[in-house]
Amino acid sequence: MFTRHLPVSEAGLGPGDTFSFSCHSGLACFNSCCRNKQLPLTPYDVLRLKQGLGLSSDAFLAAYTLYWTDSETGFPSICLRMEEAPDRACPFVSPGGCRVYDDRPTACRLYPLGRAAGGQAGAPGRAFAFLMSTPGCLGRGEEQVWTVEDWMESQGLGPYVRMNDRMLEVVSQPRRRAGKPLDEGGVQKVIVACYNLDVFRRFVFETAFADVAGLDEAARERLASDDTALLELGMAYLRRVLYAQDAG
Ligand code: SF4
Ligand code: SF4
Repeated sequence: MFTRHLPVSEAGLGPGDTFSFSCHSGLACFNSCCRNKQLPLTPYDVLRLKQGLGLSSDAFLAAYTLYWTDSETGFPSICLRMEEAPDRACPFVSPGGCRVYDDRPTACRLYPLGRAAGGQAGAPGRAFAFLMSTPGCLGRGEEQVWTVEDWMESQGLGPYVRMNDRMLEVVSQPRRRAGKPLDEGGVQKVIVACYNLDVFRRFVFETAFADVAGLDEAARERLASDDTALLELGMAYLRRVLYAQDAG
């Protein structure tokens, strides 16, 4: 359903390009794709899922995710942990469909599209959409036609794309591309500032961070309750500590 399938259109799709797709419970394949996947989670995916489930970021990460470090960048990669047995189902799939539909991850929202960085359709580091090849997906044979733009709108992808692209800016920094992978200290900073937001919030408020960063009262109030604002601060913090850029 997600990444790691070869794109049908290697060149990428523009906003007005069209494809046919419809996913519904009347299809014989319904729910079959929500299993046995390496389903990546972006920082904003984790934020939405932990909020939707009413969990702390610590509890969500421990219960539902796996992580490893990318061999090239050294950045942590987080994915949803499938059930152990018998068919490695997604922990959120139910007979009626997705139990976390309103907060489902980017990859689930995008499908049958994927997004990748760089390539022929964009400058290095820019993300672009492509059509995925998924044998057995009967939805691709349905008659409903979408433009890429309408599909993204219909799936509520606006805030996901915005926040994922901000994270892409952190990961694809020219200084990182030219340098070495992150060291262990950098990995831990990325995990806390982008994925474990409740721990990052304690770091902001229970150390000298807020004073040193010059956060005014309005900013402190917002960061105390707004996870998206906190994630934006986390990304700015990473640009500063990893690349010595201004945290603006
Ligand atoms: S999060 Fe929902 S849509 Fe995504 S794989 Fe799990 S059950 Fe399927
Ligand atoms: S139509 Fe495709 S996305 Fe929908 S349930 Fe079937 S395989 Fe999954």
